Amino acid sequence: MEYWDNNQIKIPKLGFGTSMLKGAEAVSAIQTALEAGLRHIDTAQIYFNEEAVGTAIKESSISRENIFLTTKIWKDSLTAERVRKTFHESLNQLQTDYVDLLLVHWPNPEVPLEETLGAFEDLKAENKIHHIGVSNFTCDLLKKAKEICPDLVTNQVEYHPLLFQKPLLDLVDKQGIFLTAYSPLMRGKVFKIQQIINMADRYKKSSGQIVLRWLIEQKDVVVIFKARDKKHIEENIDIFNFKLEPQDREKLFRLNKNRQKVINPPFAPQWD
Ligand code: NAP
Repeated sequence: MEYWDNNQIKIPKLGFGTSMLKGAEAVSAIQTALEAGLRHIDTAQIYFNEEAVGTAIKESSISRENIFLTTKIWKDSLTAERVRKTFHESLNQLQTDYVDLLLVHWPNPEVPLEETLGAFEDLKAENKIHHIGVSNFTCDLLKKAKEICPDLVTNQVEYHPLLFQKPLLDLVDKQGIFLTAYSPLMRGKVFKIQQIINMADRYKKSSGQIVLRWLIEQKDVVVIFKARDKKHIEENIDIFNFKLEPQDREKLFRLNKNRQKVINPPFAPQWD
């Protein structure tokens, strides 16, 4: 496994996303991911699977301290009072006494960011969370968040070959933090892109392996994919034994169509 490591935080560059996985299916998929070697799990309050995530971790042979666990506070719970209350509910469900990373899932202009991140800082001071991050933040919002909370470590955003996050990548580089790429497989759509299929054939890899490899090769990028299928999980982890040629890396960058979002809810902020 490769890590993003800046002495303040060490996080596996490849992680397992759990959105839309629930109950026994979630437990089974997470255990498969852990058995296959993944040590980074991403969940959220809104996935309604924190209990399954907790059970999978508890019943696995991997000890809690060897797993990097992220959860996210939903946008309707960002007042200081709601952060504290719902975070403790999350901890209960996750059956653990800390999370490695807590994220603001989506910005909510109705709650001052100072209040939300202040509540996150309090949880960090109590050692209930080890790191603080945000998700779906624009460059302007990320600058503001980092000013309020200098030890903020990541912004988790949609990132894949059709959506190059250049301004955010430049910004996290300047800030000394990392970008977490979500929906890296475009929820399955990357498997239908002919240029990626052709490249995958040349490398004798799958399209998913090509895209995940392209992402983890990038400086300051950590990637989380989701898969329920055991074969998919094992295949997606098997990306540490090859490298992309520079010209192929460039070809993937040239597929960019900007603004091609898989996840675009009505409450998403205006992107810069
Ligand atoms: P994704 O990882 O881009 O794609 C998942 C889809 O790809 C599933 O349908 C899966 O199929 C399929 N797949 C995976 N590996 C495959 C393979 N080797 N061959 C063929 N198909 C394959 O989608 P995502 O769930 O949107 O993103 C990943 C994670 O990012 C989420 O689970 C969540 O943790 C996080 N996320 C965060 C936010 C946010 O707002 N912060 C938003 C979206 C996602 P099977 O399931 O059938 O195996």
